[in-house]
Amino acid sequence: MINVFQPSLGEEELGAVREVFATGWVGRGRRADAFEAAFAAHLGVGREHVTSVNSCTEATFIAMSLAGVGPGVEVVIPSISFVGAANAIAAHGARPVFCDVDPRTLNPTADDVARALGPSTRAVLLLHYGGHPGEAAEIARLCAERGVLLVEDAANAIASTVDGRACGTLGDFGVWSFDHGKIAVAVDGGVLYARDPELVRRATRLAYFGLAEPTGHQRAARSASRWWEIEVESFSRRSVLNDVLAAIGTVQLRRLPEFLARRAEVVARYDAGLAGVPGVVLPPPVPPGHRTSHYFYWVQLDPRVRDDVAEDLYRAGVYTTFRYPPLHHVPLYGSDAVLPGADLAAARTLNLPLHQSLSDDDVDLVVRELKASLARRSGVVLTP
Ligand SMILES: *Cc1c(COP(=O)(O)O)cnc(C)c1O
Repeated sequence: MINVFQPSLGEEELGAVREVFATGWVGRGRRADAFEAAFAAHLGVGREHVTSVNSCTEATFIAMSLAGVGPGVEVVIPSISFVGAANAIAAHGARPVFCDVDPRTLNPTADDVARALGPSTRAVLLLHYGGHPGEAAEIARLCAERGVLLVEDAANAIASTVDGRACGTLGDFGVWSFDHGKIAVAVDGGVLYARDPELVRRATRLAYFGLAEPTGHQRAARSASRWWEIEVESFSRRSVLNDVLAAIGTVQLRRLPEFLARRAEVVARYDAGLAGVPGVVLPPPVPPGHRTSHYFYWVQLDPRVRDDVAEDLYRAGVYTTFRYPPLHHVPLYGSDAVLPGADLAAARTLNLPLHQSLSDDDVDLVVRELKASLARRSGVVLTP
């Protein structure tokens, strides 16, 4: 089976894990510090702007807390978003307000976001679909003008930039994931960026039981006596990133440029193989000044054949999917929004396999099977 996503983990990562084991310390420590420093350098921001946690979802929950999201507050989020992001809003007692997306890019336009803003909007929680920045810069400007916080769910956008600035750092908070399905995989892990370093310090306390100060070695090293005593500042959880995963993540960050280069080649091969195929709409080109991480590759097909094509491909050993099913239809969120762009995108989009281990032959097989399925299923032609 050709996977839709696949991690590239090997000897280098195993070596890093072995090294951590040999130190006798596998909890949060020097490796996590080094990982945070490496990621801050990768983003082009100061070290004091980032902290690591055990998942991106946890980072989003923390960002909502830091943003003061709670009862009586609304947070605008594109309907085509990750379920954990909407949960982070709702779990804080706030109302997720779903906005529409451009059916071609699956990203919201600044107008889509503006239409969803209201007097109770506290924040916008923005996704960069497939790594494409979309109108993130315009949305950042809009949020600043309206006094609304911008939180970027940059889990798709680890290496995406707008005019050289990293997605995830365009607003007030950014979050990234290193879970099993991402481009850089630490097995699990997340990073939080905050524009305000004081909020990063609060985040690190929230990630460790809400203690006012670290206990143990860190305090002993500062010659504090009774380094074991605790001062509880808030009732929080433990969601730090341990040194084993951080060490894997650091290796993956080093390998990231190689991953990105291969992904760009795969995308170019899909583009060439599928160009001009009747019934297939390709992802929109990346505008000048934007850089995408190439997290997703997607095609758009006639809604009457999309599901059949997915099943044909599955039987031919090619796993595909659709990310992300519109959240405004999830009953538990209680939305009555009418979002034709999101619905159209959901009806006709199919994510094809995209990862750095795909061979040219794999890509050619996907292209061949997709064309064969379309020819078999119909002569239905979708105009862009
Ligand atoms: C993967 C992903 C997440 C969740 O990341 P975890 O680290 O698994 O919690 C959140 N948002 C988006 C857009 C993602 O792709």
